[in-house]
Amino acid sequence: MKKLFTITLTFFLLFSGCTHTPSASRTIFAMDTVMQLTIYGENAGKSLDAIATAIRNYEQVFSPTIVDSEVQTINRNGGSSMLSSDMKRVLTNAEAFAKETGGAFDPMLAPLVDLWGNGHVPEQAKINDARAHSGYKNMKLSQNSCTLRPNTGLNLGGIAKGAVSDDVLPILKEYGITSAILSLGGNIVAHGSRPDKSPWVVGVRDPDGEATDTLGVLKVHDKFVISSGDYERFFIENGKRYHHIINPKTGYPADNDLRSVVIVCENGAMADAYSTALFVMGSEAALNFWRKHTNFEALLVLRNHRIIITQGLKNSFTLSDGRYTYEVENR
Ligand code: AMP
Ligand code: MG
Repeated sequence: MKKLFTITLTFFLLFSGCTHTPSASRTIFAMDTVMQLTIYGENAGKSLDAIATAIRNYEQVFSPTIVDSEVQTINRNGGSSMLSSDMKRVLTNAEAFAKETGGAFDPMLAPLVDLWGNGHVPEQAKINDARAHSGYKNMKLSQNSCTLRPNTGLNLGGIAKGAVSDDVLPILKEYGITSAILSLGGNIVAHGSRPDKSPWVVGVRDPDGEATDTLGVLKVHDKFVISSGDYERFFIENGKRYHHIINPKTGYPADNDLRSVVIVCENGAMADAYSTALFVMGSEAALNFWRKHTNFEALLVLRNHRIIITQGLKNSFTLSDGRYTYEVENR
């Protein structure tokens, strides 16, 4: 999804080229991903600076690559660690999402994620060992600290960018911004509407295509549009694709009827956790989950070029790729 925003911006520029609203745009590399920020309004420049600073601060908390980020320090220390308020909030939410999704989303998969991150299919014994040291039940949260069982570890790759996107909203509001589109590594914050008051147009990545290929668009305002797919990070071995989203039950990359999941809702951390979880569940369980929850909508891309959109997206989605068909799932 990382590159999807290129498309988003293309549509966006096409449709809003005639506006004279002041704007500010910046691309930054943070949290191991490309972030593109475009803000409209009188305070566009100032709010952009404030958001870029906030993202840098979050990076010190959640980055999987900065050696002394808080998450890396917690993992390295093992045992019990004091938590910053940002980390406390994200871990509390992550634990709740893990329980709610029956462990399909799990913030304690570091051993498995690291093992598969080596770029080849691991030996079964190593998968078994990593599985034995993975799972959110290995983490105990208390007032201001968390305790990890030995040789376990946090991996917040499935929720951190969504959580950060929640925290840029108050900054936009503080500066009176009513029109902004931000991509935090493909996690889209479509704040307000475009300067001409029409909805934002967010491309949906074609899992078969290149990074800039879309199969359709979603028109939204004031929403997070957050995706998980098998195309984002993967390797191919013996003709089979192994991607970066792990089914905690098997210890292998999720292998079901889905290629990607897009979640549309008003809470970034939730959208991020749900996109990962529903991708792990497969379409049937994902739709059952949606039926029980009224606070999000979803678009599922299945392996056979079928798309299922939940009923709340009926008027938002436009299909543009003739190889795909789509149907609407009602509650
Ligand atoms: P996303 O792109 O939001 O679906 O997140 C994928 C990232 O989350 C991976 O690169 C891993 O860092 C981590 N991850 C992998 N599998 C899971 C899972 N089942 N639950 C939570 N996080 C996961
Ligand atoms: Mg996610």
